[in-house]
Amino acid sequence: MALLNEYFLEFPGDSLFSDVAKKINTFKVIRPNAELIDMSINDVTTPLPSSVVEAMHRAVDDMADSTRFHGYGPEQGYEFLRDSIIKNDFNSRGIHLMPNEVFINDGVKSEIGNIGDLLRSDNTIGVVDPIYPVYIESNVISGRAGMFYKGRWSNVCYLSCNESNGFAPMPPEYPIDIVYLCSPDNPTGAAYSKGQLKKWVDYAIKNNTLILFDASYEAYIQSPDIPHSIYEIRGAKKVAIELRSFSRTAGFTGLRCGYTIIPKELTVQTLDGRRVQMNTLWSRRQSIRFNGVSYVTQCAAAATYTELGKKQLLQTIEYYMENAHMMRRILSPLNLRIYGGEHIPYLWIKIPTEMSSWEFFESMLYGAKVICTPGVVFGPGGEGFVRLSAFAKREACEKAAGRLRDWLE
Ligand code: PLP
Repeated sequence: MALLNEYFLEFPGDSLFSDVAKKINTFKVIRPNAELIDMSINDVTTPLPSSVVEAMHRAVDDMADSTRFHGYGPEQGYEFLRDSIIKNDFNSRGIHLMPNEVFINDGVKSEIGNIGDLLRSDNTIGVVDPIYPVYIESNVISGRAGMFYKGRWSNVCYLSCNESNGFAPMPPEYPIDIVYLCSPDNPTGAAYSKGQLKKWVDYAIKNNTLILFDASYEAYIQSPDIPHSIYEIRGAKKVAIELRSFSRTAGFTGLRCGYTIIPKELTVQTLDGRRVQMNTLWSRRQSIRFNGVSYVTQCAAAATYTELGKKQLLQTIEYYMENAHMMRRILSPLNLRIYGGEHIPYLWIKIPTEMSSWEFFESMLYGAKVICTPGVVFGPGGEGFVRLSAFAKREACEKAAGRLRDWLE
């Protein structure tokens, strides 16, 4: 008899993101002629840079030639890409890594869940709240989140991200086994300073905590004081896995490529107290369950490290950041409390009335015909806020900000 993984049944209902979609569909039925602007966009809107597209064309030609054809690749990723990553993203910041500490993945979302393969289901989980929901949901389906009660999972420690701590919570007094940190953070836009991140690393060393550090948005960091990698902090290689993605920097949301750093120094304990190297186990896991990212995609990713590629990525990043700055400028006369938009193109806005984030979302939908994301979709701590995404096109950002200004005035 085949028995189900019943943890899938633990979810209280559809995801809150699908509630957003339902409410938008209802609006479209009621107001079929209204022109909506989508500022809840969870994707990028600029196409792949030409350097990437040309590299893909060349890679496709390789695949059509019997002398240059590539079949199964190394599970860990091609060395040409891993070398470029180390040289450009880490050596340039004084961080030294070996090629076998870099694992090419098909995006951070799947990797966040996959890493759970190496971790027992009775670990406690710590997340900042609000947060990218995948950190929690991937633990729910592997039985690590406990029971859902009054909007929270019993085995998850929610570390409150709020205005008074600058949306960057510090380690708690008690130990947590696995902690997810995201910097710069989706949705709040907060980015940890070196001093703050050091506190987390020290905490992890003291408590045998594993940190999963999501640096998907690191390329958007605008200040030299903000670390791009957790390995800029001494001791982090002993306690942290870092995840990075080409999605937001090079428009790979549809192509799928990222990478995971698992330093050789990182060990995790067995129940009887033995320390085991995560890197070796992850190599084994990948060779059992993964056949690598396609050659064409990895050639595309490698093109982002060419001179032209770097220049084009910078232009894309500037484009989205300018969207965010422009929206802030348009909204600033309203005296709203606007966060984010500094190191990430998301604006995290305090709702200026007593409305809940769902009520404000609907009010904005019908009043301004602008779609935002209700903060509570990212966790109970998001109540009282909404997120606007500047990953939309320039004209849409400008028009939406103008409509919001007029509506709120
Ligand atoms: N991590 C964070 C914080 C995100 O916001 C997202 C996408 O929205 C992802 C990871 C997903 O990245 P990828 O496209 O590499 O799966």
